[in-house]
Amino acid sequence: QSTIDEFYKKHTIDIQGDLKLRPILEFRHAGLPSNILEVVKNFANPTPIQAATWPITLSGRDIVGIAETGSGKTLAFTIPGLVHIASKLKRGNKSGKPTMLVVSPTRELAMQSAEQAEAAGKAVGVTSICVYGGVDKHPQRKAFQRGVDIVVATPGRLIDLINEGSCDLSEVSFMVLDEADRMLDDGFENDIRAIMGYTPKDRQTLMFSATWPESVRKLASDFLNKPMRVTIGSPDL
Ligand code: ADP
Ligand code: MG
Repeated sequence: QSTIDEFYKKHTIDIQGDLKLRPILEFRHAGLPSNILEVVKNFANPTPIQAATWPITLSGRDIVGIAETGSGKTLAFTIPGLVHIASKLKRGNKSGKPTMLVVSPTRELAMQSAEQAEAAGKAVGVTSICVYGGVDKHPQRKAFQRGVDIVVATPGRLIDLINEGSCDLSEVSFMVLDEADRMLDDGFENDIRAIMGYTPKDRQTLMFSATWPESVRKLASDFLNKPMRVTIGSPDL
């Protein structure tokens, strides 16, 4: 217990909510299947946001993670996402429709997340696609036809593909709103709300943000179910 308290104190980690779980201070304590452990083999330890959010996310709860840029948020949601997909595939779900959806504010951020999802997914036989505007829609349509497990997308193009019938979010059960504060600043609130409406209500929902302003709180309270909240450091409110 003292090791854990020290860890929380050292990294100014604040956890709000009813779930009390030990942080995962070492990869080998995460209970990850060996092929998923491969993904992190070049890292020494989980970062604070990973250590604090993994046990909560892996338990199936909704979560808000607030931590600065560069803190390792992508693997904070990608690793539990892979575990989620693997267990769904094991239960025999092979429809080819996406299980995990990550919505990102910009093409660059979407591509960065997709790169990590692609690399991590490859190790475990999980497929992914990155969808953004300003490029030909056809390869994106084709990828959906072939079937994908993970979709990383910017809001506008995703809605286009949904509206034309190329993308079906009806089997998304693990949904991530990445850089939520930035998406709201960039005017994507209505798009995000529309996208959420195309996904099942009983999905698990994760929201990551560098800050925790009122607009982000409102979005969380509208779309997350009794979320736990993990804050690293003292972000600007
Ligand atoms: P954020 O989304 O919080 O801005 P990223 O997820 O993009 O940050 O991660 C920033 C960098 O940290 C990436 O290069 C990533 O590969 C690296 N990283 C992720 N997890 C770890 C870890 N456990 N140990 C060391 N580096 C890590
Ligand atoms: Mg990020």
